[in-house]
Amino acid sequence: MRIDIMTLFPEMCERVLDESIIGRARRSGIIEVNCHNIRDYTADKHRHVDDMPYGGGQGMLMKPEPIAACFEAIASQCPQRPVFIYMSPKGRVFNQSIARSLMQCGNICLLCGHYEGVDQRLIDSMIDMELSVGDYVLTGGELPALIVTDAVCRMVPRVLAEDACFEDESHYDGLLEHPQYTRPPVWNGMRVPEELLSGHHAKIAQWKREQSLRQTARYRPDLLEKADLTQKELDLLKNEHLL
Ligand code: SAM
Repeated sequence: MRIDIMTLFPEMCERVLDESIIGRARRSGIIEVNCHNIRDYTADKHRHVDDMPYGGGQGMLMKPEPIAACFEAIASQCPQRPVFIYMSPKGRVFNQSIARSLMQCGNICLLCGHYEGVDQRLIDSMIDMELSVGDYVLTGGELPALIVTDAVCRMVPRVLAEDACFEDESHYDGLLEHPQYTRPPVWNGMRVPEELLSGHHAKIAQWKREQSLRQTARYRPDLLEKADLTQKELDLLKNEHLL
């Protein structure tokens, strides 16, 4: 997996990407994540990356030329043209299934906007997809790009200790994960559920599935509409008045 992040603040991204699981995966060469400073692709003496918007309005807008030059330089190093994604509050809201399809692309390039955003002509002519991290506005696209990078990279084989780590988690199969417990078996008078202590694999698997259904019904009932449930599972939720 190769991800290129185009930003005016590469150090901000590097600091995060150097840490923990993603940092380790980068150092061991399992994934390649590069941060590029868009300002390095300006052609004028003052290295301008922004200008005033035509028609007036608050704030500055990122100019198209340095962004285009930066992307072309990245694309020329890649075996095929990367999928070019603009992080934008107007975009499709990012989720686990988009993360999985981006992981399968193998090579993506994330553009972080700043100020008022980016000249529309750049978006219309070069961007393949606009992605949002939610219905709110941030100061820049760096945090959104880091969110996408993290979610995509952790699904690359060998980044996590085992692939099952992400396959078991919330959203992978459209449901939320079951609750989890660690030692001690009793804490503040609260016991870990007996099923988990039983050592009986089938019983544990069934408990986890039922709890996952209950958690989804409780926190995100909207997800159940699209989930692939058996008649028995639907009955269980109906009997408990969760559906
Ligand atoms: N003027 C833009 C608008 O109203 O749609 C907002 C610009 S925002 C202040 C600056 C940059 O932050 C955007 O170009 C984008 O890259 C990034 N950004 C802000 N909120 C975001 C979100 N929810 N998802 C993804 N990127 C976001």
